Amino acid sequence: MTEPSRFPAPPVELPTDPWLIEGTPVNGCDVCRALTRQRKAALDRGDRSKAFEAAAEIRKHPHRRRS
Ligand SMILES: [Zn+2]
Repeated sequence: MTEPSRFPAPPVELPTDPWLIEGTPVNGCDVCRALTRQRKAALDRGDRSKAFEAAAEIRKHPHRRRS
């Protein structure tokens, strides 16, 4: 965006509650892998609410295994 940069290097803003973006993807789970990628992409562009969403999905995912 076109925000006037008054500071040479603004510090990276960290989430207030780190657990909000936590979520352990399960190996071999395609959904988890996709969500992990979404979470990282969201964090990379500073979209923390999207990252929270993706993390929450990972946490509540049933992780159905393919047999
Ligand atoms: Zn999963």
